Amino acid sequence: MNAEFGVYVHIPFCSHRCDYCAFATWTEKHHLIEQYMAALVTQARHEVALGMAPVTSVFVGGGTPSLVSADNLMAVIAELPVTADAEVTIECNPDSVDSAKLAVYREGGANRVSFGVQSMVPAVLAALGRTHNPDNVVAAVTAARAVGFESINLDVIYGGAGESLDDWRTTLDGIIVLEPDHVSAYGLTVEPGTVLYDDPSRHPDDDDQADKYLLADEILGAAGLLNYEISNWSKPGEECRHNLLYWSQGEYAGLGCAAHAHIDGRRFWSVRTPERYIDSIESSQGTEAGSERLDLAEREVEALQLAIRRREGVPVDVVPDEVIHLVDIDADGTARLNLQGRLLANEVAVRLTPRAL
Ligand code: SF4
Repeated sequence: MNAEFGVYVHIPFCSHRCDYCAFATWTEKHHLIEQYMAALVTQARHEVALGMAPVTSVFVGGGTPSLVSADNLMAVIAELPVTADAEVTIECNPDSVDSAKLAVYREGGANRVSFGVQSMVPAVLAALGRTHNPDNVVAAVTAARAVGFESINLDVIYGGAGESLDDWRTTLDGIIVLEPDHVSAYGLTVEPGTVLYDDPSRHPDDDDQADKYLLADEILGAAGLLNYEISNWSKPGEECRHNLLYWSQGEYAGLGCAAHAHIDGRRFWSVRTPERYIDSIESSQGTEAGSERLDLAEREVEALQLAIRRREGVPVDVVPDEVIHLVDIDADGTARLNLQGRLLANEVAVRLTPRAL
């Protein structure tokens, strides 16, 4: 069994910018797509030539990976030393995939697809500044299954302006009938620099989001999807291997602009724009824009903060008394967030203290 090693591939193009989105993605740079995809192949070859570890998970995200040619996307993955049992995920917008594209992903070795659903209620989608029609989600999931994808994730967001608890229930019920293997449900967050940030009348309410989180856990749990990280539920054995790597301080490379990497204890990230990325690759300069290295104490604190968010939990003696009511404690001394604790996870996480400190 190989040690876990992931590769993240960033596709920084979207057809439309959603009102809440602060990701490194652009709507007016599609003329760069061909050059960008060629640069990704060059970077992949270069990193493999330097001795990339066997790759146990690949995650192609963005942006909207399904916006670019499926052949060009799979040409990048074909360069990587992917293990036979690797998890290979492509993030897709339900509006920009079809059976032909999904078939190319599958033939190219992808075995997991992640659809950005966000909501199944058109008025809520509009309030998020999203464009797709919920019917496209059903068609996309059906098409993915038809070409042989057995592992399907659906991403949803709660807390959009005007979304009632019933709307959220409609979304949850609407995705459950599609029998996803994995669901990521995130509360809407307001990021500086977004259209949403500038419109306080559309900002989410904490109590409303808490009610919606509880409803999500109830409905997803009843459908056999178990919570294994604060915002992630899966069928047993369908946990996202790539994300588990991030949540356990694992190692990964990043391909593309704004991609982050973590190798040999060093974290580093690439230049943010596609132009600078293409220039760096074409002129054989490094793509790195910055880096950091956590010292041992910082790594221990971070490990606990990540572990408390997962089903694995933390040793009870790192949980201070003031938040002990927010965890359940097993006979073996493992503390896991209880339901109330999951609503207040950050409050608990910042109070954890490694034994040695
Ligand atoms: S589709 Fe995703 S990456 Fe693109 S703008 Fe919307 S939220 Fe951002």
